[in-house]
Amino acid sequence: MYSLKQISNIINGTILGSDSTYIKYLSIDSRKIFFPQETLFFAIITDHRDGHNFIQDAYEQGVKNFIITKPINFSIYADACFITVGNSITALQQLATHHRQQFKIPVIGISGSNGKTIVKEWLNQLLEPDFNICRSPKSYNSQVGVPLSIWQLNKHNQLGIFEAGISKPDEMDTLEKVISPTIGILTNIGSAHDEGFKNREQKLSEKLKLFKQGQTLICCFDDELVNKVVTQNSIKTFSWGKTNGCDVSIVHIEKQSDGTYIDLEYNKERISFKLFFSDEASVENALHCFCTCILLGLKKEIIVERIQKLRSIEMRLEWKKAINNCYLIDDSYNNDLSSLTIALDYLQQQSQTVKKTVILTDIFQSGISDTELYNHVADLLSQRKIGRLISIGNTIILYKHFFIDRGIEVITFNTTENFLQAFESLSFKDETILLKGARAFELERVAHILEQQAHHTILETNLSALTDNLKKYRSLLKPGTKIMVMVKAFGYGSGGAEIAKVLQFNKVDYLAVAYVDEGVSLRRAGIHLPIMVMNPEPSAFNLMDEHNLEPEIFSFEILNAFIHYCKSKAIKEFPIHIKFDTGMHRLGFEFNELDALIKSLLLYEELKVKSVFSHLAVSDDPTHNSYTHQQAELFTSICNTLEEKISYPFIRHISNTAAISRHPHLQLDMVRLGIGIYGVDTANQLSLRVVTMLKSTIAQIRFVKAGETVGYSRKGIVIKDSLIATVRIGYADGFRRQLSNGKGYMYLHGQLAPVIGNVCMDMTMIDVTHIKNVQVGDEVEIFGKHIHIEKVAELCNTIPYEIMTGINQRVKRIFFEE
Ligand SMILES: *Cc1c(COP(=O)(O)O)cnc(C)c1O
Repeated sequence: MYSLKQISNIINGTILGSDSTYIKYLSIDSRKIFFPQETLFFAIITDHRDGHNFIQDAYEQGVKNFIITKPINFSIYADACFITVGNSITALQQLATHHRQQFKIPVIGISGSNGKTIVKEWLNQLLEPDFNICRSPKSYNSQVGVPLSIWQLNKHNQLGIFEAGISKPDEMDTLEKVISPTIGILTNIGSAHDEGFKNREQKLSEKLKLFKQGQTLICCFDDELVNKVVTQNSIKTFSWGKTNGCDVSIVHIEKQSDGTYIDLEYNKERISFKLFFSDEASVENALHCFCTCILLGLKKEIIVERIQKLRSIEMRLEWKKAINNCYLIDDSYNNDLSSLTIALDYLQQQSQTVKKTVILTDIFQSGISDTELYNHVADLLSQRKIGRLISIGNTIILYKHFFIDRGIEVITFNTTENFLQAFESLSFKDETILLKGARAFELERVAHILEQQAHHTILETNLSALTDNLKKYRSLLKPGTKIMVMVKAFGYGSGGAEIAKVLQFNKVDYLAVAYVDEGVSLRRAGIHLPIMVMNPEPSAFNLMDEHNLEPEIFSFEILNAFIHYCKSKAIKEFPIHIKFDTGMHRLGFEFNELDALIKSLLLYEELKVKSVFSHLAVSDDPTHNSYTHQQAELFTSICNTLEEKISYPFIRHISNTAAISRHPHLQLDMVRLGIGIYGVDTANQLSLRVVTMLKSTIAQIRFVKAGETVGYSRKGIVIKDSLIATVRIGYADGFRRQLSNGKGYMYLHGQLAPVIGNVCMDMTMIDVTHIKNVQVGDEVEIFGKHIHIEKVAELCNTIPYEIMTGINQRVKRIFFEE
């Protein structure tokens, strides 16, 4: 804890207000503040956001202390304290650097293109029994993430493990000062962020700056570039590889179906073990970890024992629909204080329901007494307004009064078995449940009964990728341009409220849905962004009104009906959105109706025009650019006339996804982003991330002899003896029948398997003769990272929109963040 006065001195700030408060938490995001009294808020300016705009939001939550870089209206924050600095990111880094210097413990700094987070998490697993460790949460490795990670160091810690990521030159100098590592790890050098550097060598030299003061760098000398550059820079290394002269040399390495067998030599001694993995990246990551453990002085028998137990890390938190309208966040892989905090924050942000329950086992955390520990946990839960705690274990039960005293309902069980026996009596309903516990408690049994066991076909949505795509489009917009995101048709098939929550969190300006019902269900799920309804049916006007939904008005018929409704309820200035047809010829007023429309708008004060818009018919197609321009010109002249006549401002918008990248001058006041955030670039210009993945599993496998046939109508003729797998997906799920007989394919075990025979209603057969080790239950990708949805659409002679929205609602939706 530092007083504001100390902090101001450290960062060379000018302080205004009382400087005696003690600060425990730093925040850069007003959406993530949990202990406002002890929080210092840094107003950070980036290309797309100015943190000063969120000061009021933070203040309203009780934050009283701020770091700012420009003058604000102090008078409205009478009891607050402001420290003015030149650059708030620099200030954050200076503060973290100072904090780091207070600790004389080994600190591991991890850099490289891939694997940083995995190496960090594995080291944590390997070293946890011997050290009280402070590590970066999630993948906090940026100019801002690193200082926030370092800030978490406390007097109990005996080891620090931090990631450092850079995307352009010079960033590493700062991170080096902040982390000041005593041991370095260079995971590897790949293509990530190549665009920010002159060449690989420059990128590598930049990354190596992290280790310029460090005592030893762990790296693999089989990479020639690494070997060369490290040697040139005379960095002290602890190297491994097959190359001669490595500190740890690989004598033999052999991949088998059950993992990788490795023989190493260190200090003239042979060390052998088996890793659970056979992919190259995992082996590389594990060997970095091995060397780190050696450097830290662990006994080799212990390292071998622990390293064989490493498993892939479920780094992502995901939530699933569960029984009785519940949602489940399953994080039952480990249980320490920092991962509990992350999971609780996630629960707080993602909660789809008002009611929140945490199922929590005993926690293992060295260096802190149980009393302190559970007191802190009770604080964490009460700050996040958790209504119910269900505890499992013999230790946590001893501290249940901590939770009860804070108004939390507590139910305790000694074992997971006892919990399962009492399951029915716990009546889970309409709540979001966080399942958090150590592996030993086998909470997967709990997850299993909480999950809706519908069937095995799932549509996965990667919410981090969706956010990245949104950012990509945002970066194409001029400052101040608003974004409306189209979440019609259940968010293009992937999810309605679930997607809207993420968009709301990322502060888009508007949402749009097709029908009133869709808008109502978003409101019920707690979406408070303005929502436009494109097809408001008069019978649903009252519902629309009740839920603050804003209609699109596209004809006199609907205009008059709505005016009539507003009059009957004595409503004034109801926000509406007027649509003009400029060439799509679907919905909208025509140009020759403009005068009459203006008359009505001037006459009836029941309505107020919030926005005026039109829709482009061919924005994705360069051969029709002139048509697009013609539409835009007509639209502009309509808007100009309207503005002149109705004499108040409104929002103008015409661009859909493809127009955002292809026709930047048509951004106007707002754009309507649709398919792009879901990862499909119809204009083929951007590299978007894959957001939705359709997966299923194999129900049965059989040998079929040459000459036999597979499936209905005997269309699947088997030419040579074959291995045929039946997959749990059919045309009823949205796997189109056009994909029958070799036209479509699925992806498993790194290979493609063609469809054989006709697709059935609930099942499809694929030929897996050429693929090794296929087993019942194996996961199969229908579309996603390996088979792009665009490709599937092409095979079906349609567009990705139709494939996406055609996935049946019986297919279970899963959402996750990385
Ligand atoms: C669906 C829709 C959009 C979004 O289209 P994309 O091609 O998905 O970007 C924009 N405006 C209107 C009126 C729409 O109906």
